[in-house]
Amino acid sequence: MAYTLNEKLRGLTPYDPGAGDYPVRLDANESFLTPPGWLRAKIAAALADVPYNRYPDPKAAALCAAFADYYGIDPAWVAAGNGLDEVLFILATCFTKAGDTLVTVAPDFSMYRFYGRLGECRLETYDKGEDCAVDPDGLVAFCREKKADMLLFSNPCNPTSLGLDREAVRKIIREAGCLVVLDEAYMDFSDQSLIQEADRYDNLILLRTCSKMLGLAGLRLGFFVANPLLTGAFRACKSPYNVNALSQAAGTVVLREKEYLDDCRRQAVASRDSLYAGLRPLCDRRGWRCFTPQTNFVFLKPQDAQTVHEGLKAAGILVRRMGGFLRITAGTEEENQKLLAALEKME
Ligand SMILES: *Cc1c(COP(=O)(O)O)cnc(C)c1O
Repeated sequence: MAYTLNEKLRGLTPYDPGAGDYPVRLDANESFLTPPGWLRAKIAAALADVPYNRYPDPKAAALCAAFADYYGIDPAWVAAGNGLDEVLFILATCFTKAGDTLVTVAPDFSMYRFYGRLGECRLETYDKGEDCAVDPDGLVAFCREKKADMLLFSNPCNPTSLGLDREAVRKIIREAGCLVVLDEAYMDFSDQSLIQEADRYDNLILLRTCSKMLGLAGLRLGFFVANPLLTGAFRACKSPYNVNALSQAAGTVVLREKEYLDDCRRQAVASRDSLYAGLRPLCDRRGWRCFTPQTNFVFLKPQDAQTVHEGLKAAGILVRRMGGFLRITAGTEEENQKLLAALEKME
């Protein structure tokens, strides 16, 4: 039999995070902090009690309760996923029907469109334009004009590092006329979250992840936050055992450590501010655009991004190049200084 792949699958290639051995990795927006010894010991103790022969809790109830408690919300609004990536996949394939219109903005997180294609959505893109900022009125008008079924965007934005304030996002939710998926993967580095009012809207799904500020990218934990109707629908359509027992147990332990997490947040923001303070004058001197970040990375536009990207690689430093832009994750103070020194040398 001559089986051929359907056109949805044809031409897809596995995700490649980029090969190569770089001593300084500032390319994936991960946390530079990893649980310290005392916390690892607590995690290990929790893992020792995991019943390996049993399926995990399909509701991930303890994990969702710890998440809800840390963010001061009702656990009834919360469901868990195997990383936000899984949640995005479910949203784009189950919360839409084939032929539905999915509106994304550009630039934004590239996986949105990828999953939208798998969901057989009609993809419409609102272009942010030169300043990379979203105009809330323009986006609302675009969604209405295109008769959007779903709007999906990140706030603050990966990769631009810019954020909309609460009032602007509320306006978009109220007026876009569709289901709004608000990806707050980076909101721990900013202060304009709508998480505490997530159940006030009948058309809002808010997303958070443990991969960025919380420093647990390896566990694959993401959260869906919405009113009980939408949360119930998510729980009903996800695969039953999507979050494994080890990740549930470890994530629950870490999410209960409020002081530790608040300290992680302070350190991450301090690193971001220090990296930006170093990059800003350097960019100004060279006439490079450098955006004021509300995330754990800095987004900038060198004269020649490719040459700078290659130059940094040669110095053992990996950052992310996106067309003519570079996205640089804030690292340890030492990593930030290495990056700045390497850039200074590259006249
Ligand atoms: C990193 C990232 C995600 C994915 O998070 P995971 O929980 O690690 O899958 C989702 N959205 C945005 C905007 C991100 O930058």
